[in-house]
Formats: sequence, structure tokens, C-alpha cells
Amino acid sequence: MRERKDANLRHVRNLERLKGKENITQSGQRIDICANVGTREDIENVLRSDAGGIGLFRSEFLYMEMGSKLPSEEKLFQVYKLAAESMGANRVVVRIADFGGDKMVESVDLGEQANPAIGLRGIRIMMEKEELFLPQFRAILRASALGNVSIMFPMITSMEEVAAAKALLEKAKKQLKDEKTAYNENIEIGVMIETPAAVMISGELAREVDFFSIGTNDLLQLTLGMDRENPKLDKYYNPYHPALMKMIRIVANNVHLEGKRISICGDLAADLSMTEFFVQIGIDELSVAPHQVLGLRKKIREIQ
Ligand code: PEP
Ligand code: MG
Repeated sequence: MRERKDANLRHVRNLERLKGKENITQSGQRIDICANVGTREDIENVLRSDAGGIGLFRSEFLYMEMGSKLPSEEKLFQVYKLAAESMGANRVVVRIADFGGDKMVESVDLGEQANPAIGLRGIRIMMEKEELFLPQFRAILRASALGNVSIMFPMITSMEEVAAAKALLEKAKKQLKDEKTAYNENIEIGVMIETPAAVMISGELAREVDFFSIGTNDLLQLTLGMDRENPKLDKYYNPYHPALMKMIRIVANNVHLEGKRISICGDLAADLSMTEFFVQIGIDELSVAPHQVLGLRKKIREIQ
């Protein structure tokens, strides 16, 4: 046990030496590493991790921690503001709340659903409950005046959803403008690619937005038709399924054809056996848990 503890300590110290170093391969290819967060406390961990920003702010956690009460616009703004100011010029990608699925929120009643993972969730709720999302959009916009904040939409399956999300964003902008409240008029818009439908229309989607982020967790479960939470499926649940690899390639090609940026923010982003493939196909950014940042940097720096 002591030997293992010492080895672990040595490993951590070695990784600490990589702080401040670039994410660059031996042949000079760069890739950004950002961190995934869900709470105010996580922001501190991102700073400690030496990540180059926040690649995925899972807003639903700000609702989950409030129990049966909804967080106010001001409360959301304060957390996004902290993220924006702490990251300085680095990117902060705020995903609007992906309620439902495996993240049920007490304050948002979605009714009984037999299959919540493929039920009313993510952007679909926004299509039905605009008033629930408007404070979030306003909070994100207000924070965009204070740093490098962008907004991202989850569980996209159609162009209509993107149009509806953009329309709500415009409505929030107009309100803020009328109130003379500061925001970034050119805030970048991204969509998550986490449904096979989004993969198939990724060429069209790429023309509508500034960036993509692949959510491999949902994309994998929806592609395989297997519940990511069901331990009985562990032996069939293949994160390296060739279908997923092909999808990632297709999406990367389509987004790059439009000269836009692509990130991966699902669990696969931190899988070091995948890093070389991601670098090879030109993924621009990997977003991982804060404690995985330096290990990923080490891996990238070892690639020829
Ligand atoms: C994903 O689906 O890969 C993702 C990043 O979103 P979440 O895990 O929050 O569903
Ligand atoms: Mg997801």
C-alpha cells in the first residue's frame, strides 16, 4: 500500500510539472484542453487544473442543488459571472440546462416518462417552456459582457430547434438592450452533437453555428440503443464502436469544411487511448474533468 501511495505521489508531482506548459505534440500540433464543470465550487478546481477554459458548464447542476426552488436569474448570473471573470480571456462554454434524462430536477416537473433519456429533455423542454429558459439566456448574456462566454444547446436533433434557440436568444438580447444592460452582441453559439440525427445534419448545422461539441456519452447510448446507466449492458457497451468513430470523423469533417471549431466534451475526451485519433482528425479542443487535464496534456506532449 505504501509503495502504491508513493508511486501515486510521484505521478502527481510529475504531472504538476506540466502546469503552464503547452498542449502540443512532438511534431508541433496544438490542441486545447478545457474543463467540464457543474457548480460554483468546480470553478476553483478548473483554475487549479491549469485548463485553458471551461469547455462545458452543465447548467442543470445549478438547478439540481436548489431542490424544489428554481434559481433566480441573478443567482445564475452570479455563478456565470464568477466563471467568466475567473477564466479571463479563456473560453467559458455555458450549456443551457439539460434537464431530464439522468439529471432530474425537482423544480421542473416533466411528468411521468417511461424513457426519460429519450423523453422530454434538453432543448425539447426549451421548445415548450420558454419562460423557464429566458432567465438562463439572460444570465448567460449578462455574463458574456464580463469575459469570453459562449452559449451551447444540448440534445439538438433539427434545424428548427436551433432556429428556436436562436430566436429566444434574440428575445433575451432585445430585453437587455431595452433595459440598457451590457452583453456581448456577438456571443458565439454552439450546439452539442449527441444524437445520430445531429451527426447526419452536421453539414447544415455547421453553417448555422460557431462551434460544435460532441457529447459522446449521449451519442454513444443513442447510437447503440443502449442505456448508458444500465450495468447489465456493460459487456456490450463499446465506447470504441466503429459507428461512433465514423460519426466523429464525419462531424469533424463537416465542421471544418465550414471553418468552424469542434470540441469533444463527453467522457471519451479523457480516454488516453483515443487522444492520438482525436489529434489526427484535427479535433480543436478536448474538455475533461479538471483532475484529468494534466494527464491529457502529458499524453498529447508524448504523441509524435
Ligand atoms: C454527453 O452526452 O456526452 C455530455 C457531455 O452531456 P451529459 O453527459 O451531461 O449528458
Ligand atoms: Mg449529453
